[in-house]
Amino acid sequence: MENQFSQYQDLEKIMITRDEIQTQVKEVAKRISADYQGKTPVVVCILKGAVMFFADLLRELDFPLVTDFMAISSYGSSTKSTGVVKLVKDLDRDICGRDVLVVEDIVDSGMTLSYIKKEFAQRGAASVRIATLLDKPARRRVELDVDYSCFVIPDAFVVGYGLDYDEKYRNLPDIGVLHPRIYTK
Ligand code: 5GP
Repeated sequence: MENQFSQYQDLEKIMITRDEIQTQVKEVAKRISADYQGKTPVVVCILKGAVMFFADLLRELDFPLVTDFMAISSYGSSTKSTGVVKLVKDLDRDICGRDVLVVEDIVDSGMTLSYIKKEFAQRGAASVRIATLLDKPARRRVELDVDYSCFVIPDAFVVGYGLDYDEKYRNLPDIGVLHPRIYTK
């Protein structure tokens, strides 16, 4: 595939194109919009990987909402989850009594979202649902209900459309499999 980004040379292949992403985000947004009619949820973006998905999804949601942001770290610069979840930036608002929709880039082991779900329940959220761009069920280590998912993908390390390796590749408009030569040095 021809494109202007030299970073594409570090990809083994493109897994999901920008057009496929846009089509699927619109589809999932329709389902979410149907489910949240009459409600005003707090829609939480999990930084930084979900930023692109959050921005595109939000513009398709057809109900009043408020936004908030949370940053969690579990990876460092490796491609394998450490299983240790650290809260780097908390929400700005109180979510007690509120419906909360958590927007995430990818569910892998499930540790991050399982931590967030428990934490939000403890804070008294009226409901907590999860919308993820990607779901990698093969690597799940904890049971987790994913309410909305755009793509179920096989076990591969992917980058682009917000997802990084060592903070790079977030700006690629498509999602691709990172070539192992980049992280096995
Ligand atoms: P979990 O806690 O479910 O194992 O991991 C969730 C986080 O791990 C995601 O938010 C994401 O930051 C990171 N992650 C998991 N799989 C991948 C992947 O294939 N590519 C990238 N770039 N990050 C991933």
